[in-house]
Amino acid sequence: MKKQRTETAQKIHLAKIDANATPDFDGGKREGGEELQRLNKKLEALQELLYAEHKHRVLVVLQAMDTGGKDGVIRHVFEGVNPQGVRVASFKVPTTEELDHDYLWRVHKQVPGKGEIVIFNRSHYEDVLVVRVHELVPEEVWARRFDQINHFERMLAEEGVTILKFYLHIDQEEQKARLEARRDDPQKRWKFKPGDLKERALWDHYMQAYEAVLEKTHTSWAPWHVVPANKKWYRNLVIARIIIEALEKLNMAFPEADFDPGTIEIV
Ligand code: AMP
Ligand code: MG
Repeated sequence: MKKQRTETAQKIHLAKIDANATPDFDGGKREGGEELQRLNKKLEALQELLYAEHKHRVLVVLQAMDTGGKDGVIRHVFEGVNPQGVRVASFKVPTTEELDHDYLWRVHKQVPGKGEIVIFNRSHYEDVLVVRVHELVPEEVWARRFDQINHFERMLAEEGVTILKFYLHIDQEEQKARLEARRDDPQKRWKFKPGDLKERALWDHYMQAYEAVLEKTHTSWAPWHVVPANKKWYRNLVIARIIIEALEKLNMAFPEADFDPGTIEIV
């Protein structure tokens, strides 16, 4: 595999990307919902095949600002897939044991095995995002992580992992509305942490950190997809489409029997 970066290796200005946009889809929420139902069925069938074939591994990385929709993607895009063979790994503030190790230690342990889809709800990218914004390590340390991450992901890809990375792009107004909903709705309040407001105040710093991530770690073996995510139905649809396309490219087949079924009598 050539060490080569693809299209979004150019300068990215997230503020110029319309988070309300719905490119490549003619229709609104209702049509989008119907289309997602069709895609859910397709994904279900492809995941069954992936699991049965037991050959490929698939890693889906979800990154976003707070309220960006990572949990919603997990719930809606993967609705209907067989939980056997799909796993979610959530990366929180590292434990002391995790902090005693290199930052990829906890991540490598969670990568998918054969036949498996693993969804990263946050990921090693936090180590160049929150860690950078809060100066949890010196710049010289986080700055060299972009190359380290590219090498790590390249190794995974060469070992047969299909890597799909999504940045769910919401804007500040949308985040405000979603935080207010979390504050006011008793069923959403459990997700609200007053500390989220401190992160919100650092929005521009986060955007700068995300732009660096999207520029420096968009590779042919582990591309980033920037998904306009203010409209939840559109976000789900786009991500489902991209995952399905990637699974179809694997040209999977159910395994051949290593016996002649015609000779087997079941009494
Ligand atoms: P949530 O996803 O809302 O449950 O929050 C998880 C929190 O863990 C977020 O505030 C992340 O920024 C934080 N987090 C995840 N990974 C790291 C890391 N490597 N270093 C510091 N904080 C992290
Ligand atoms: Mg949170």
